[in-house]
Amino acid sequence: MSAGVTVRVPAKVNVQLAVGAARPDGFHDLANVFLAVGLYDEVTVTPADGLRVTCEGPDAAQVPLDRTNLAARAAIALAERYGRTPDVHLHIAKDIPVAGGMAGGSADGAGALLACDALWGTGATRDELLDICAELGSDVPFSLVGGAALGTGRGEKLTALETGGAFHWVFAMAGRGLSTPAVFREFDRLTRGTDVPEPVASGALLDALAAGDPDALAATVSNDLQPAALSLFPELAAALAAGRGAGALAALVSGSGPTTAFLVRDAKSAHRTAEALRASGACSAVRTASGPVPGATVL
Ligand code: ATP
Repeated sequence: MSAGVTVRVPAKVNVQLAVGAARPDGFHDLANVFLAVGLYDEVTVTPADGLRVTCEGPDAAQVPLDRTNLAARAAIALAERYGRTPDVHLHIAKDIPVAGGMAGGSADGAGALLACDALWGTGATRDELLDICAELGSDVPFSLVGGAALGTGRGEKLTALETGGAFHWVFAMAGRGLSTPAVFREFDRLTRGTDVPEPVASGALLDALAAGDPDALAATVSNDLQPAALSLFPELAAALAAGRGAGALAALVSGSGPTTAFLVRDAKSAHRTAEALRASGACSAVRTASGPVPGATVL
């Protein structure tokens, strides 16, 4: 069997997600501050007779194995650009929750792109890879670069951000997913008739990231999609309350949800908060992770 290439890709949490009014094309302008955290999917690509996708992990049954899988779409997009056929087996070892608001599908798209690029030796530049990522989805460019970044436009125009240290998190999984488009539709419904401000990054939040100060970050995190996620999934309020009760510095819905994210002071508090969340029964699984971590990386 020919040797394959494995790429490891992190999940993300949005420490700020500011959402503008729906544009005429239906998309929303965003000011999206991403932090890559140490929960990972691994994508392994090997030469094959045709395109095939397999997936293992606790949520594997919810992952499509056809050409709609973002990993498959990434392989097809890169192959098209370089005039080849995407004859590869893509295997996803999935640890990022599916439809959890942590960009799991985007991670697999970025991972497959980097893995196929390495396997085929296309010589694509970083900018070319980032272009393909942006075509695949708003969160895919960030999955490639990782670290911390501000995303504007639909979230895909990235500016890297400085961070002054590691931030510790606890993530509570919800047992079922939430569709990102459905959450945006609910945002539109909830804000109809109101004056939705232009999305702008918070200066205080960027300062907190740069200083590596968890208390200052906790005071400034925000997610404009949270009311919409809570409206579609009211049980999330119990998870947020349980994390706050366990001493988290901040509790918020991760991206479009339904994973909830808890910022804590250090690894020891993460452990304590995770235990309290597990005992609360308000979530299906609990994980700890810190960030920033690098983006998609060939192993
Ligand atoms: P985001 O945080 O970027 O909004 P998410 O983490 O909420 O995304 P994903 O896990 O990316 O959501 O999955 C959303 C949907 O995308 C899934 O329900 C699934 O149908 C589809 N999908 C396509 N490719 C993948 C993949 N490789 N892994 C998971 N889901 C995928």
